Amino acid sequence: MAAPATPAQWRAALKAEGVPFIELDGWTTRGRDAATGKVYGPVHGILNHHTAGVDSLNVIAYRGVQGLPPPLAHGLLRKDGVVVLVADGRANHAGLVAENVYRAIVAEKPLPKQDKSRTVDGNDSLYGLEVENRGDGEDVYTRAQYDSWVRFDAALCRLHGWTAGSVAGHLETSVEGKPDPAGPVAGYGRRGRFLFTMAQFRRDVAERLSHQANWSPPSTQETVTVTPQHVNLGLVHGYQLAPDLWDDIEFTTEWNDEPDDHALNSPTFVKGAARFTGSLSLRFEGLAVGEVAQVRMSEYDDAGNLKQNHPIHEVIGTPGGTYAVVPLTKRLAAGRNMRVRLLNLGAEGVEVVSAVLTALVWQEG
Ligand SMILES: [Zn+2]
Repeated sequence: MAAPATPAQWRAALKAEGVPFIELDGWTTRGRDAATGKVYGPVHGILNHHTAGVDSLNVIAYRGVQGLPPPLAHGLLRKDGVVVLVADGRANHAGLVAENVYRAIVAEKPLPKQDKSRTVDGNDSLYGLEVENRGDGEDVYTRAQYDSWVRFDAALCRLHGWTAGSVAGHLETSVEGKPDPAGPVAGYGRRGRFLFTMAQFRRDVAERLSHQANWSPPSTQETVTVTPQHVNLGLVHGYQLAPDLWDDIEFTTEWNDEPDDHALNSPTFVKGAARFTGSLSLRFEGLAVGEVAQVRMSEYDDAGNLKQNHPIHEVIGTPGGTYAVVPLTKRLAAGRNMRVRLLNLGAEGVEVVSAVLTALVWQEG
């Protein structure tokens, strides 16, 4: 049993609970108290509804429906998760509530099936929240909407010292067969899409109430965006490759605009831990037709010691210069550097005219 929240209490409770809200002009004085001559309060619980429509603010705040004068709720929860505060006074939302259900809400006990023979006026003692949803079983409550919904009910429970047993749905109290709230929910916390039920909703409110007001449910939905680094390296000048000697390609130019000179003037083109994929384009002059040059990736530690060689790609000399494209794809462990090395198996010196390495690098941890 509690007096209805004052505007200041509404604002403080919703803010503390992390409910985004806006205040409709005149909401602090809007209500049916004077028109009905009936006292609103003490309040005993929160009755949850879906609007069964779209853009219902006008109807709920100003127009009403079918001879039912506005306001039709205390708050409207929009699709974007924002609550519009509509009225602080008596609102026309609950209609007749089965008295046995009403008693259970007051006592915060599990709600029984409605005994329709005895009723009370739910507008005397229940907060009303309308949640925007067409109510056709297809319209989906957004994640933002459901998250705010749980927070909204929890905020009022926390304010009044209630448990989730003070939370009810119109379909549980109505003696006229109201079906709301219902429908699919996009997800909540770690949960994917599910169908709304009051039982689940009360569990979510109860879980929230077991934490501080500023708590947020853990989520697996946060997307981790991993953007690979683009590496584009080459030689400024060609150089001679002596026979029978493994030689690191000394990439000396970074052919992009990235600010970090990760491989400039270094034979290393990627540092672990990382994954990378790309290619090395080579052009040789002086490699005799049929002669072989070998290309391989090799792993080094930070001290420059060779730790592991990867398989050899053979490049065979062709007339008019030799061209080759070598694929580069590997995962490199932490503390390892990757270099590209060349071995000239011909009898004469060979000129490496160009070497262009283009790769995408995903640095890990
Ligand atoms: Zn309803």
